Parts: sequence; structure tokens; C-alpha cells
Amino acid sequence: MEHRIWSESIASALLRKHGLRVTSPRVAISMKLLEQHCHYTAQQLHAELVRLHPALSPNTVYLTLNQLASVGVISSFRLSGNTIFDSNTTTHDHALCRECGRLEDLPSETLDAPTSPACIKEWVLEGGTRIWSGFCPICNDEADKTA
Ligand SMILES: [Zn+2]
Ligand SMILES: [Zn+2]
Repeated sequence: MEHRIWSESIASALLRKHGLRVTSPRVAISMKLLEQHCHYTAQQLHAELVRLHPALSPNTVYLTLNQLASVGVISSFRLSGNTIFDSNTTTHDHALCRECGRLEDLPSETLDAPTSPACIKEWVLEGGTRIWSGFCPICNDEADKTA
């Protein structure tokens, strides 16, 4: 994966490119999400950012994440009743650890939208992700030790 140093100017340029006004919450949130590949709920991201940006409200984080997702700067999907915001905008699957909840990207081969079954004829499918559940290396190791 391409490695970039995310500076304020790169984040600002990205926001402008997607037609968003450059505000300090948007810059802080974009930088946090894009400096490394990651998955966050709005709550988790707020908890991370509030240390550096005490004035940032949970609601601002939530609204900003939705704006960024709606213009395609980040992607999002639903998991167990939460919206997960994802800095990876390409179509991909996910591996979810059943023990600790760790979520990792799985490169997927071709995830073409299904087209043939009659039951989805009237639908407009935009994209999606499959969640593969199992155990991450750390939890798998623990299970081996206690076995
Ligand atoms: Zn785990
Ligand atoms: Zn992902």
C-alpha cells in the first residue's frame, strides 16, 4: 500500500477536490483517517481525537464522517448495528476476529455486483463488503496455549 505523509495541506487539498469547505474538524478527521489505513466508528474516532482537539464534539465527528463518506473520501459499512468508517475506498472484504473484534481488510478478487437473480432486479446495488469471521493471530495463539 502506498505510504504518504498526511499533512494539513494534503488533507485540505483533498477536501477541496471533493467540494468540501476546509474546516479544522474536517482537516483533523481526514488526517487521522488517512495517515494510516484504519476502521473507526464515530465514537472511537472521537475518543482518539478529543485528546488533541478538546473542543471537538461527538456530533461534529459523526456528521463530518458521514460527509466524507458521502463524497467518497472514505467508505462506510454497517457492522453489528454500528457504522464503520473505512479509509480504504476500494471494494474489499473484511476479516473480523470473534474474540477481540479486530477488523482487517481482505483483498477481494472480483466483487462484481450480482445481477442475475430475479429477486434483485428492481434494486440498484452500489457496493458492499463480506465479513469473514474467525480468530486473529493473537487470539488464535491464546486459544492454543489454553487448549
Ligand atoms: Zn483477536
Ligand atoms: Zn476496510
